[in-house]
Amino acid sequence: MNGSARIIDGKAVAAAVRAEIAGAAAAFNEAYGRPPGLATILVGDDPASDVYVTSKHKACSETGIAGEDHRLPATTTSAELSELIAQLNGRDDVDGILLQLPLPDGLDDAQLTELIDPAKDVDGLTAANAGRVVQGRDALVPCTPSGVMRLLAHIGAELEGAEAVVVGRSNLVGRPVASLLLAENATVTTCHSRTRDLGAVCRRADVLVACVGSPGIVTGDMIKPGAIVIDVGTTRGADGLQGDVVFDEALKVASAITPVPGGVGPMTIACLLANTMKAAQSRAAVAV
Ligand code: NAP
Repeated sequence: MNGSARIIDGKAVAAAVRAEIAGAAAAFNEAYGRPPGLATILVGDDPASDVYVTSKHKACSETGIAGEDHRLPATTTSAELSELIAQLNGRDDVDGILLQLPLPDGLDDAQLTELIDPAKDVDGLTAANAGRVVQGRDALVPCTPSGVMRLLAHIGAELEGAEAVVVGRSNLVGRPVASLLLAENATVTTCHSRTRDLGAVCRRADVLVACVGSPGIVTGDMIKPGAIVIDVGTTRGADGLQGDVVFDEALKVASAITPVPGGVGPMTIACLLANTMKAAQSRAAVAV
């Protein structure tokens, strides 16, 4: 194939997910007399985290989800943070708890995340939810991987039996993406910093998901003609946000590709809203 790939419009797909969640949140409010609730915890004053948390709350209020914004100083102790998480775990009106990472030095991201009730773990980062994803069971799936799968579903990607290559193996993105592709019966290869010939492995892919955070690491000659390319990478540079894929080159080879920005990015918050809705519905069903 030597043409121009379809550009996957993540903004439009995310808008559709948000509209769906707004409807479900209104129905939930009607049925249970309260909106679904999401509590976020931000420790310290990292500017990027501040932007992320603020946009999550904006999205909540636009969707009819009650957002609760806990901001704590960088001097917060592990015991104080544990106490807040325990309080939120115990509250009936809080369906989702999001601990914004990374935490300041001295606080252990993994250990504190693990204190979140898995039923309220809307980031899908506790071992319970991560394990369920690996086992192919129902779970609160991490938001960005969930967004990747929704985009693939949106374009009708044929995953069964497809060669899928995931570049990156973080707990946040690469590993869960690989598990979710496997659950769809793709034949999955995961690449990482020790992979010997990244180009050769990528060239096998019918579906290539790049989640590295290294601008331009995937060049056009690493893409199989007709492949679907999902670019999760976002690196902020002088020219704005850059993906992992050399977009102009990929456009000529791939059959479909996500742009950066406007591809996977908008899906992440939409999937957080979807997870909050799912947590609310699951908890309400258990309570009945
Ligand atoms: P991460 O924790 O830094 O993981 C990066 C992964 O890339 C690691 O597994 C690493 O391998 C691998 N890697 C590094 N250099 C490589 C190389 N030369 N060849 C092959 N693999 C290599 O990052 P992350 O949290 O997964 O995020 C990845 C990217 O996605 C970042 O740009 C991030 O900003 C972006 N992101 C976007 C969204 C969104 O909403 N759009 C959400 C989350 C993340 P090792 O394991 O061997 O070190």
